[in-house]
Amino acid sequence: MELRERNKGGTLKEKLQNHYHKRNFQTDEKDASRYGQMFFWGMVVSLFFEGQFFLVPMLYWGDTWAMILASVLVWFTLFECTINWMGTYFGQNNYVTSEIKEEKFPGQEETPPGWINCPKCQVDAPPRSHHCRLCNRCVLKRDHHCFFTNSCVGFYNQRFFVMFCIYMVWGNLFALFLQLTYTTQSIPVFSWDGLAYIPMVGLVYFFMGYVSLGQLFLIVHICFCFMCFCGGVFFLCWQIILAAAGMTSYEAWKGIPWYRRTSLENVRSVFGSIWKIPFQLLFPFRVDQDGNGVEWTVRSKTVKYQ
Ligand SMILES: [Zn+2]
Ligand SMILES: [Zn+2]
Repeated sequence: MELRERNKGGTLKEKLQNHYHKRNFQTDEKDASRYGQMFFWGMVVSLFFEGQFFLVPMLYWGDTWAMILASVLVWFTLFECTINWMGTYFGQNNYVTSEIKEEKFPGQEETPPGWINCPKCQVDAPPRSHHCRLCNRCVLKRDHHCFFTNSCVGFYNQRFFVMFCIYMVWGNLFALFLQLTYTTQSIPVFSWDGLAYIPMVGLVYFFMGYVSLGQLFLIVHICFCFMCFCGGVFFLCWQIILAAAGMTSYEAWKGIPWYRRTSLENVRSVFGSIWKIPFQLLFPFRVDQDGNGVEWTVRSKTVKYQ
């Protein structure tokens, strides 16, 4: 009521202030997360069709074995990207529920020591879990909210996210190889024509009739692939450092140094047994990680919050 009254009159400044006060930035972020998800699938689907039905036949027609190998790699990349995306997206058991506390502390009303009572979702959350305002839930060992999978990365799905990053890097590298092998046949990189690989110049060249619409599409795709490749390398390196150091992005960002074990133990807490990692690279089967995401050994003193 009060808001409506204020809306009626007021100076332009007041109206603007009112507008920004009402604007829901959380909704904006949720939309960004949905667009990130759409961007990922747009890239995967377009790269798959471009690779399988255009670039591979154009490049390897007549060479049966090269064509089979390239096709197998395209399908393999599609499978791994999809399955690891789903592993990250469906990491629903990351969410903190009241059952977790009930299981550890049956019948206890007050918040256990070391735990926090989340003011947003009203549950007692174990150490290292944090509230995500986009998921609107507390997440076990929350690392960050991934905009490309539209989900939170936490205790149970971090290993899928690392594999997802590995296939982001591989997939974009493979796509760039196919795309550039094809386009450099007609547009060499190290020449004046090579300026076309800068999208704005490519657009000008298109209007001047130097490059075709198909070539322009490939140039734009190459730029997106290159950006995704760089992003993938960054996230992959960062996640490997975090997994070995036994930290989350949040803890690294805030400088919280209270959780320390050996690198091997830290990696086992993310991936389970070390010897299973190569198999996880190929197929995301169930693994028994060290720990349960609820109890954490603090420094080397083996003090448990229970
Ligand atoms: Zn919460
Ligand atoms: Zn989230």
